[in-house]
Amino acid sequence: MRVLVVGAGIIGAALADRLTRPAPGAPARVTVVEAEGPGAGTSGTSYAWINANDPADPAYHRFRTAAMSAWRDLAAGFGAPAWYRPSGNVTWAAADGAKERLADRVARLSGLGYAAELITSHRLRELEPHVAAPPDALIAHYPGEAHLHGGPAARALVRRARDSGADLVAARRTVRLNTDGDRVTGVRLDDGRDLDADLTVCAAGRHSPALLATAGAALPLVDPSEPGSAAPCLVATTSAAEGVLNGLVHAPGLSARPAATGGLVLEADDLDAGTDETASPAHVRAVGDELLARARALVPALTAQVAEVRRCVRPLPVDGYPLVGFQRPGLYTAVTHSGITLAPHLAALIAEEIAGRPSGALAPYRPNRAAPHP
Ligand SMILES: Cc1cc2nc3c(=O)[nH]c(=O)nc-3n(C[C@H](O)[C@H](O)[C@H](O)COP(=O)(O)OP(=O)(O)OC[C@H]3O[C@@H](n4cnc5c(N)ncnc54)[C@H](O)[C@@H]3O)c2cc1C
Repeated sequence: MRVLVVGAGIIGAALADRLTRPAPGAPARVTVVEAEGPGAGTSGTSYAWINANDPADPAYHRFRTAAMSAWRDLAAGFGAPAWYRPSGNVTWAAADGAKERLADRVARLSGLGYAAELITSHRLRELEPHVAAPPDALIAHYPGEAHLHGGPAARALVRRARDSGADLVAARRTVRLNTDGDRVTGVRLDDGRDLDADLTVCAAGRHSPALLATAGAALPLVDPSEPGSAAPCLVATTSAAEGVLNGLVHAPGLSARPAATGGLVLEADDLDAGTDETASPAHVRAVGDELLARARALVPALTAQVAEVRRCVRPLPVDGYPLVGFQRPGLYTAVTHSGITLAPHLAALIAEEIAGRPSGALAPYRPNRAAPHP
């Protein structure tokens, strides 16, 4: 079976790797087509927190905890790689309502068997000695959570897939899906070449709707060009700040973690809310400055500067849940937010489906679902 994966972000890379692992019924030939290079898209910019930190939907929470476990197994197979950081996560709340919500979340997550605990400020100092939290903060620790350096991870997965026989066609854009009647038969590249396949997997992240539209297929992703869209965002990285954070820290108004480059990755939801795809360079700079000011309040000893502020677009399904499954004969789609968390688990389930064994775990997340996920 010839399988063609369009996109080498974390989803396409994890799938290519999985499809080339020794397994009964594995496809004979895997080709990955990537417009730039592995990990160059959203996965390389992502905040990349591997978690199942929301107890609201217990079934989806279980799906995500399975994904956290899939990452542990995958990383172990690479021998504790530098791109997978099982660092844990600390967070706190300072305002009264926020404290109640955090206490409730920790209780509900614990009730679901998730590693979640309230800790003292002394314990916070042991975990994150350089971080300043208000003395009366309610502090939570999630020791099982992790973060990923998405670019290096995608590249490592594609490298291993190639070592196991996959082909990579890099720096080549897929301009359309080729069809024969209802069946997708492969893709056309931007150099005019056609690549034939028994199955084409669309793992093109935020660009998937445009690609699928070339075969008349639709995908309900949030449109980043709509005013007030939740998809566009800004992520800052700082210059070197070795050792100032050990893991993920979620303070009111700031999410921060160590970056692969030795600096920090900084993001804030409230600042993303005022960002659109056409945000001016002045706006982008102002967001970078604000993120740095918040980081200095979080880590008073921080002397780093903003090194880069990257625009990015979340591949955000309209109802927030994954879009995974066959869309047409010869066409499989795998697009999701939380793709960093979910990638290896999805890859394992998708490989089963490609081998002819439909996955019950994926049944709620089909791309053609008529109604939004409840
Ligand atoms: C700011 C931010 C924070 C986030 N935080 C988290 C988080 O904490 N935890 C989490 O789990 N998730 C998080 N996400 C979401 C997560 O990053 C994404 O779900 C995930 O990276 C998507 O991976 P992907 O492989 O589908 O897409 P991408 O990484 O974008 O990969 C798609 C690839 O396809 C290629 N491509 C596109 N079109 C074509 C074409 N026509 N031909 C050939 N190649 C093509 C692109 O070049 C790209 O490399 C965050 C996202 C953002 C933006």
